[in-house]
Amino acid sequence: MTESQSSSTPRWKALLAESVTTAEALAGRFDLSPEPLAAVIRTFPMRINPYYLSLIREPGDPIWRQAVPDAAELADAVGSADPLCEEACSPVPGLIHRYPDRVVLLASEQCAMFCRFCMRKRRVGTMAAKDRRAAAIDYIRRTPAVHEVVLSGGDPLMLADTDLARLLEQLRAIGHVRLLRIHSRMPCTLPQRVTDDLVRLLRDVQPLYFNIHFNHPLEITDRSRDACARLADAGIPLGSQTVLLKGVNDDAAVMHQLMETLLTLRVRPYYLHQLDRVCGTAHFRVPLEKGLAIIQHLRGRISGMGVPHYMIDLPGGGGKVPLTPEYVVAQHADHWILRNFENRPFRYSLH
Ligand SMILES: *Cc1c(COP(=O)(O)O)cnc(C)c1O
Ligand code: SF4
Repeated sequence: MTESQSSSTPRWKALLAESVTTAEALAGRFDLSPEPLAAVIRTFPMRINPYYLSLIREPGDPIWRQAVPDAAELADAVGSADPLCEEACSPVPGLIHRYPDRVVLLASEQCAMFCRFCMRKRRVGTMAAKDRRAAAIDYIRRTPAVHEVVLSGGDPLMLADTDLARLLEQLRAIGHVRLLRIHSRMPCTLPQRVTDDLVRLLRDVQPLYFNIHFNHPLEITDRSRDACARLADAGIPLGSQTVLLKGVNDDAAVMHQLMETLLTLRVRPYYLHQLDRVCGTAHFRVPLEKGLAIIQHLRGRISGMGVPHYMIDLPGGGGKVPLTPEYVVAQHADHWILRNFENRPFRYSLH
């Protein structure tokens, strides 16, 4: 029986319904006291679906840290709710228009798992996005400068297939929208979402780019491999965004393994994000020097296709800019000195 023939509830929805959302339920599975957890969950909701939960090997491991609330979330005194001023860049609610040619449409406020480090922590798990969709589509329709629509959220794949298909078709019907892009964590956090039906509906609205979000090699399983393979087989170009996270992937060897493995999944690393200064995430912050050192480690040691751009999203709404290790050692009138990935200097003549 294929998924489309199966009875009422798709498997991924059934799994979602079994998510752990309370401190008591989590404490029932692991040896921990529910009280401090419950306090965090009252401010920032928890949702860990059974698939992602099954990836945890032991408390405190890189999967655990991404999914399980930490008392440190309530102790963060430096972060702000909306450091990128996204609300100020929203011409209509649920749409962010910061760059000239592309917009982000927050298609859902829901996710298959609530990442503890989420940049949209202020809104994820809160309100319904559905009512806003008509206004967002209308804005895009009357703004010819918009050539690309990025569906984000929350997770746009939390929409039911019919809602997602309708949204994509409405966007596809707008002549000046040349590119569609989906940013989703679900091939990683609940790969059962990538059904034959979903792949078919995405294939039908090409050109569509798909950026996944993997943070650690432990997230790459037979299931997530299969989800990526189905999308790639349908001709959908896959990229990956990774967030640099203390205690998860702030390590050159871990990042090396992650990026190299993603390439074997036909997923091309796109961005490595410096964590935004969002309230409740300070315990994940990694110094910029360390991020640069990781990029420097990757360059030259793995395929150039596997080296992501290390991006910082400027506080105040300035947009994303890349941070790059410095390879220019000196600039002279007739030659420059450059260093290679092994730190050896080379002379490059300007004549
Ligand atoms: C990240 C982002 C985009 C997409 O940027 P790319 O560099 O094209 O991936 C678009 N709009 C906003 C507001 C963003 O934050
Ligand atoms: S899936 Fe994305 S939007 Fe949802 S909680 Fe994780 S980082 Fe945030």
